[in-house]
Amino acid sequence: MNEPLFRLTVLGTRGSMAICKKSHSLFGGDTSCYYVQAGEESLFLDGGSGLLCAPTEFSRPPVILLTHLHLDHLLGLGMYPRLSRRGEQTQIFVPAPDEEGALSALDRLYRPPYWPLSLTAYAGDVRVKPLLPSFSVGVVQVQTLEGNHPGGCTVIRLQYAGKTLVYATDYERDEPSFTSLIGFAKGADLLLYDGQYVKEELPAKRGFGHSTAEDGIELMERCGAKRLLIVHHDPGSTDEMLLEREARIHRPDVHYARAGGVFDL
Ligand SMILES: [Zn+2]
Ligand SMILES: [Zn+2]
Repeated sequence: MNEPLFRLTVLGTRGSMAICKKSHSLFGGDTSCYYVQAGEESLFLDGGSGLLCAPTEFSRPPVILLTHLHLDHLLGLGMYPRLSRRGEQTQIFVPAPDEEGALSALDRLYRPPYWPLSLTAYAGDVRVKPLLPSFSVGVVQVQTLEGNHPGGCTVIRLQYAGKTLVYATDYERDEPSFTSLIGFAKGADLLLYDGQYVKEELPAKRGFGHSTAEDGIELMERCGAKRLLIVHHDPGSTDEMLLEREARIHRPDVHYARAGGVFDL
């Protein structure tokens, strides 16, 4: 019998700001967006500029889960073609206590003078909902945890068919939250972790809200995750730098995320 489909496709992996340079073409310059197929369900983790590379046809209406409202995680929403298709439903989950809060949070950016109109004024059936601690999208269980990041950021855990995917982007290690994260990510089949920096860079970057690949490996080992994908690459990190970092780690279960990369759980 075939295994149930639970697949992550990397659409955008750059952090902070999109970049279009030949030196960044292998890992990609689009900002945070990951496409998850789980059975019949389609979920996106973040809506950065990578969303413009996303499919637009689905068997069931897709959901977009936003970890937080920093621009690099929302850039793609305004130009995602599906939102303009009359009658087609897309749900966008935003960290907020309720529906009204979710809508007003998103409308702070997507409204004049920053953008021509609110996303809910598009021709499509766009529904904005709060990203709560625990809910389900069809057969997919979604759980969230508050991480450590300026202004906050949500860590997301998806469970489907006995497999677990954890997305911990925009996270700076501090010991209380790291301990919570170890419990939250326990036994993950695939762990995505913010490795924007490496250890040598960190002293100059404290308080920026990001982590290191080394911390990702420690988390992976302590929570018993099977595979680690380092995400949220710094715009200053070229392909050459990321390849060198990946080679230094030299583990078959640890990769730096590349745009277009596909991982089956
Ligand atoms: Zn970010
Ligand atoms: Zn952020």
